[in-house]
Amino acid sequence: MANTPHILDLIRDKRDGRAHAPEQLRWLVSSLGDIPDYQLASWLMAVTCRGLDLDETAILTDAMAHSGTVLDLSDVPGPRVDKHSTGGVGDKVTLVFGPLLATQGLTVAKLSGRGLGHTGGTVDKLESIPGFHCDLPTPRFKQQLRDLGVVLGSQSAELAPADAILYALRDVTGTVESIPLIAASVLSKKIAAGADLILIDVKTGQGAFMQDETQAEQLARALIEVGDRLGKRVICAISEMGQPLGNAVGHASEVEEAIATLRGEGPRDLTDLCVQLGAILLVAAGKAESREAGEAALRLALEDGSALERFRQVIVSQGGDPRVIDDFERLPRAGASVLVPAPATGIVQALDARAIGIAAKVLGGGRERKGARIDWAVGVDLVAKVGDRLEAGEPLATLRVNDRGRLDEAIALVQSACTLGDEPASPPALIKSLLGAL
Ligand code: URA
Repeated sequence: MANTPHILDLIRDKRDGRAHAPEQLRWLVSSLGDIPDYQLASWLMAVTCRGLDLDETAILTDAMAHSGTVLDLSDVPGPRVDKHSTGGVGDKVTLVFGPLLATQGLTVAKLSGRGLGHTGGTVDKLESIPGFHCDLPTPRFKQQLRDLGVVLGSQSAELAPADAILYALRDVTGTVESIPLIAASVLSKKIAAGADLILIDVKTGQGAFMQDETQAEQLARALIEVGDRLGKRVICAISEMGQPLGNAVGHASEVEEAIATLRGEGPRDLTDLCVQLGAILLVAAGKAESREAGEAALRLALEDGSALERFRQVIVSQGGDPRVIDDFERLPRAGASVLVPAPATGIVQALDARAIGIAAKVLGGGRERKGARIDWAVGVDLVAKVGDRLEAGEPLATLRVNDRGRLDEAIALVQSACTLGDEPASPPALIKSLLGAL
């Protein structure tokens, strides 16, 4: 009889750079509930340092995807698509993108995550809407897809539960920045959610887990290759995450900004990225002849109110209070608003998204311990972005604050994030490259 694998063997094997056998990885995923966090964390760190090859990553992804129900969406009208970001600061694209793409006849079955490291998570943002549930039982998930063409869901006890366990532990153990672990985490959720065509927004720049473009491309290739091995069509857009996306970094504040964007009144970078990514999917799904035509259709859906109306229906269907759309006071509000002055005069050359993300986290918006409660009301509202001119003392940002315990740290982080200079500056292109066949 073959020996039952043991977690200590996996930790030692990976620590010493040996590849795992498929049955070791499948055993690990099936035993996640029984392995103590300290051993799992140790294995995650060994993987972060030593890596997994593509075969191991594909097996891990497949096992994680099958740790719960894998949705069969064949009875839901298609094309069934999904989009996922590898993690950014101020990245509320999903909130806009899902309802927006559903207005074009695509079926968007979306499983999002919670905050990870210095980045915010779509599930945390959505849960700031009173009553909103991301964790839908499978029959309701499918019914909503049929009715509205979009679900903004989360991994759950039913869908990719292995990812929920690993994700929460990675968040607090310094094991997020790993290509195979990100690839397995992202793709396991996508496979469980049943989409046929997956667009992954691979972030690069100071605020991304893969800061340099070469690493981002490696992650994109791993995602495409692993997707291919598991029968999924994956397209990756490498996009800019040097400065935060939009102006709001926080949970409730990002919901507000997403609603403004769905109303056609959002910040330019956020609107453009939603529309550009959306057009890529429309072309790939055969719903637009060109990216230009796709962009035009999406801009119209933002301007004529149809995308916002679809979001309202999603909120109602997922148990939330739709009145937040017209009344932001119904979202969690912070007790105080604190101005962060520009430390000097000049043109904003850079705005380090990572530092801003950490500022939002120290205000209470992120977790430093697994399962910790977060404050939905707090965050950083940027007043200036790259290219804007500021006089010393003028507002660079406003902080939404409840607990002043780490306020000075947050102010210092936001000020240190901002590089001022005399040269004119403009933000880099939003989408740097596209990988995978359109
Ligand atoms: N998004 C995920 O779902 N998982 C990761 O590991 C990183 C970003």
